[in-house]
Amino acid sequence: AKDMGSNNFQFYTREMNESVEEKLVLLEGLRNAVDEQQFRLLYQPKVDLRSGLIFGVEALIRWHHPEHGMISPLRFIGLAEESGLIVPIGEWVLRTACRQNMAWRAAGLPPISMSVNVSPRQFQEMRLVERVAQALADSALPAGALELEVTESLIMRDLAQSVGKMRELKAMGVSLSIDDFGTGYSSLSALKSFPISTLKIDKSFVSELADNPDDQAIAMAVISLAHKLNLRVIAEGVETEQQCRFLRENDCDEMQGYLFSRPLPPGEVEALLLAQDAR
Ligand code: C2E
Ligand code: CA
Ligand code: CA
Ligand code: CA
Repeated sequence: AKDMGSNNFQFYTREMNESVEEKLVLLEGLRNAVDEQQFRLLYQPKVDLRSGLIFGVEALIRWHHPEHGMISPLRFIGLAEESGLIVPIGEWVLRTACRQNMAWRAAGLPPISMSVNVSPRQFQEMRLVERVAQALADSALPAGALELEVTESLIMRDLAQSVGKMRELKAMGVSLSIDDFGTGYSSLSALKSFPISTLKIDKSFVSELADNPDDQAIAMAVISLAHKLNLRVIAEGVETEQQCRFLRENDCDEMQGYLFSRPLPPGEVEALLLAQDAR
């Protein structure tokens, strides 16, 4: 038993060392990744549940590491947050997404909105509002064509300051939505003071929507709450027809998920928009 204990100890130490090492390698790589142009954005369509039409896309970052290949944002966004590198990375995302949306518009495609994820550190950064204004000015994208997705935990961290920033963004014409709604713990009463336009039902409530009565109850409650507050509601992670039907029958406004489309490179979004325009 003693031997096994020490083996376990060694095992865990080695694992930990590996992960610290791995973290350092990632961090080192992250520092140059913007300059070296290793990031790409994919765009996942958002669809109106009544018309079936694409009305917007969400920008989702991908990192093409020269040695490690494609790295998921789930592996590096946390580290980027911790290290503060999320600020330059987030600025690159914002500017690239605005430019892309403006390029689609300039090419005569049906105008859609662009949603960009903003992480806590990025949102709390002093010059956020200025950076957003600059990205809009430099791309010539109308502010109304940009939406920022923020999480509840972020807003609740410093309620007064967050709401102040959200009001400034709204005054500029930028829309805000609450991502992963239901997974954080914002007080429902605080919700009404947020100048937001949309609630996004987290995919953890959508995945078992077809046969889990609890998830059905949660989805219906969020939809009804959103509508009573005059907000739109979108469901993410919609993968099956059953999930889609449940959401449509229960008056959800919009959806996003593999059922309609995975996140796509710009050219494929363009093709979808062209096909939609020709209908
Ligand atoms: P999120 O904002 O909640 O984005 C939704 C995630 O679900 C995306 O994962 C998307 O690819 C995935 N997804 C979409 N449809 C489906 C579906 O039908 N089924 C399933 N199982 N998954 C689906 P992704 O692209 O790996 O991004 C993960 C997270 O990383 C995002 O979660 C977001 O929090 C963060 N992230 C991604 N891009 C950015 C970015 O540019 N900036 C910041 N700050 N965070 C980002
Ligand atoms: Ca999101
Ligand atoms: Ca989400
Ligand atoms: Ca999520």
